[in-house]
Amino acid sequence: MRKNIVAGNWKMNTTVPEGVKLAKDVNKALEGKEVNCDVIICVPFTHLVPVNDVIDADKLGLGAENCADHRSGAYTGEVSAPMVASTGAKYVILGHSERRQYYGETSETLKEKVALALENGLTPIFCIGEVLEQREDGSYLDVVKKQIEDALFNLSAEDFSKLILAYEPVWAIGTGKTATDDQAQEMHAFIRKTIEDKYGKEVAENTSILYGGSCKPSNAKALFAKPDVDGGLIGGASLDAESFMGIVTAF
Ligand code: PEP
Repeated sequence: MRKNIVAGNWKMNTTVPEGVKLAKDVNKALEGKEVNCDVIICVPFTHLVPVNDVIDADKLGLGAENCADHRSGAYTGEVSAPMVASTGAKYVILGHSERRQYYGETSETLKEKVALALENGLTPIFCIGEVLEQREDGSYLDVVKKQIEDALFNLSAEDFSKLILAYEPVWAIGTGKTATDDQAQEMHAFIRKTIEDKYGKEVAENTSILYGGSCKPSNAKALFAKPDVDGGLIGGASLDAESFMGIVTAF
């Protein structure tokens, strides 16, 4: 059975001491609490080692926000999948719309990143989603289908089964504008059907598909109540332990 997951994406926020404090706060809030989902925090590269040192890995998963599309070598400033894995992190966000938009990430580079992440035992949290214009002109389902086909459908069923997907309508990220729970459900059901057509029902049913885009404690319950919404990828609201926990406990 697929898992319910709430994953934080801290983006380029917090210094190392601030990040360590936030991680400790989330970890503490989870102590002795029964929650109905896996909880993950994805943090800047600089934070991985010190955050890993202060969290209980059985309660709180740790991930990076990106990794390089090469294994090692002369790629100044890049951080590879083996480096991320060596910190103790278990997850990596790939294909976030901010990386596609500001750093020119394409399906071709993302294919490499996914392969390297999997090779190094990292679980990719792979992001897909349409921009406002595509939502408005009605092409949003086709756009998301193509993102999945182009970057992921080269994978074997076994490797595809290791992924977590995150549907993040770009127009809802950091804007305060959330997709309605019906809009999210329509897309999530469509994504699951797209997976089923390629890999079969079992793989589709077992794939966790998260929603991301201005998810907060006040709207998480309605979103997570939808049958094909298996949790959230949370940006802004993950920067405060209390609001993040408000989303975690929406399950
Ligand atoms: C994100 O960037 O992954 C995200 C969902 O951001 P926010 O929750 O701030 O919209």
